[in-house]
Amino acid sequence: MKTTPFWWEDAPPEQGLASPPPESPSALIVGAGYTGLSAAITLAEAGMSNIVVIDAGRIGEGASSRNGGQIGNGAKFTLKQAERRFGPDRARQIMEDYDGAMPFLLDRAKTLSDDFDLNLCGAVTGAHTRNDLASLTAWRADLPQTERDRVTIHGADQVNRLIQTDIYRGAMLQEGWGALHPAKYVRALARRARELGVAIHTGWRWIGGTGGIARLQGPEGTVVLRPDMVLIAVNGYAGPELPWLRRRIVPVQSYMIATAPQPFDAMEALIPGNRVVADTKHVLYYFRRSPDGTRMLFGGRARFRSSTEVQSAEGLRAFMAHTFPSLARAEISHSWLGNVSFAMDFCTHLGRMPDGAFYSSCYNGNGISMATYMGHRIAEAMLGRSGHDRGVMNTRFPALPAYDGRPWFLPMVGSWYRFQDKWARWRD
Ligand SMILES: Cc1cc2nc3c(=O)[nH]c(=O)nc-3n(C[C@H](O)[C@H](O)[C@H](O)COP(=O)(O)OP(=O)(O)OC[C@H]3O[C@@H](n4cnc5c(N)ncnc54)[C@H](O)[C@@H]3O)c2cc1C
Repeated sequence: MKTTPFWWEDAPPEQGLASPPPESPSALIVGAGYTGLSAAITLAEAGMSNIVVIDAGRIGEGASSRNGGQIGNGAKFTLKQAERRFGPDRARQIMEDYDGAMPFLLDRAKTLSDDFDLNLCGAVTGAHTRNDLASLTAWRADLPQTERDRVTIHGADQVNRLIQTDIYRGAMLQEGWGALHPAKYVRALARRARELGVAIHTGWRWIGGTGGIARLQGPEGTVVLRPDMVLIAVNGYAGPELPWLRRRIVPVQSYMIATAPQPFDAMEALIPGNRVVADTKHVLYYFRRSPDGTRMLFGGRARFRSSTEVQSAEGLRAFMAHTFPSLARAEISHSWLGNVSFAMDFCTHLGRMPDGAFYSSCYNGNGISMATYMGHRIAEAMLGRSGHDRGVMNTRFPALPAYDGRPWFLPMVGSWYRFQDKWARWRD
C-alpha cells in the first residue's frame, strides 16, 4: 500500500522555481494551493505584474492535491442562524458567497487549458436518520424554484437507485454538482497563473515579517523581501510562524483510501453514474469512484488523534465495508491524509491580519469551490475593488482563549460527535 495520494499517480505535485523570489514583488502570496493560485490569477488578469507565489512544499502539495475531489457549495449553517450572528443584510451576502462558489469554479474552469476530469455527475447526501431526511426535505423546500428543480429527495426504499447500500434512511440528489481530479485541477490553475506571468517558487517558507518586510527560508538560506502586499493562503497548514491565524483555526486531519481497480460493472452497480456521495453524520463518510470508475475512494475522520496512513487505513476499510460489504476484502492500494481547517464559528474568513497581511481561510472541509472563489474575492480586496467588503469578508474571526493552534481538545470533541451520531441512530 502506498502512503501517497492516489491522485499523485497521474499528477504528482510539481516543483516551481528553486531560486529566491525577487526582492520587491507587487504581491507575495504564501501558499500554492487553490486559494493562492486563484488569487494570483485574478490579480494577473487585472493587469498586475511581478506577482510571486511561494510554497514551503511543492505546488499544491497541501490539501489541494489530496482531497476527495467532490465539488458543490453550501454553508455549514442556515440563513436563520447566520441572521442571528451577522444581521439580515450580512447574512444574505454570506449565503451569496457560498452559493457563488460553484458557479465561479465553473467559470474559472473555462479559462483553464488543462483537463482535470471535471464531471457534473450529481452529488448524493445520505441521510443518517429519519430526522436528517426531514431536514434535507425542509432545506429543499426553502430553495428558490429553479434550484429546487435540481434537487430530489429519495426515501429509504429508493436509496438503492442512487447508491447500493442499506446504511441510509433516505438520500438527496443534487444535479449540477459532481467531481474533479484535485491534483490535475491545482496543476491547471498553476499553469494558467504561469501563463499570465506569475512566478511560483517552491521550497520557500514564509517565516515572518511585518511593516512591509517578509522573511523567507529556502534552499539558499534566509532572504528578506519588500512586497507591496502579502496574502497568507495556507489554510490548514498554518505553522507557529503565523500565531494570529493559528489562534483562530482548528486544523483537522482528514483521511482517504483508494482500492485497487475492481470490475467496472461491479463498481457501477455500487454507485451508478459515478456520482459523489457524503452523508449527514457529524463524523461523516465521503466517497466516490475514481474518474475511470474502477476504484472506490473512501474518506472520513478515521481517528481524531494524529495517526499514520497505515493506522487510518484500517479504520477507513471498516467504514467502507460497513457501507459496501462487497468491498470488505478489496485490496487497499493507497492511504493518505491532509489538513482541513475549521473556524470556531464554522464560517469562512477573509480579511487582513493586524500586521496588514491579507488572509483567506477556513473552508470547513468544502474547499475546492470555496478556495477557488475566495482566492478571487481576497484578490478583489487586494485590488481595492469597490464592493469587495461584503459577505464573509471582514467578519469577526473568533479566537479561542488560551488556544495556540494545537487542538488538544479534538479527541474529546471527536468522541462526543461520534457518540451523538450513534445516539441519533439508536433513537431513530
Ligand atoms: C483528505 C481531504 C479531503 C478533502 N475533500 C474535499 C472534497 O471532496 N471537496 C472539497 O470541496 N474540499 C475537500 N477538502 C478540502 C480542500 O482540499 C481544501 O479546503 C482546499 O484544498 C484548501 O486550499 P488552500 O489553497 O486554501 O490550502 P492548501 O491546498 O492546504 O494549501 C496551503 C499551502 O500553504 C503552504 N504553506 C503553509 N505554510 C507555509 C509557509 N509558512 N510558507 C510557505 N508555504 C506555506 C503549504 O505547503 C500548502 O501547500 C479535503 C481536504 C482533505 C485534506
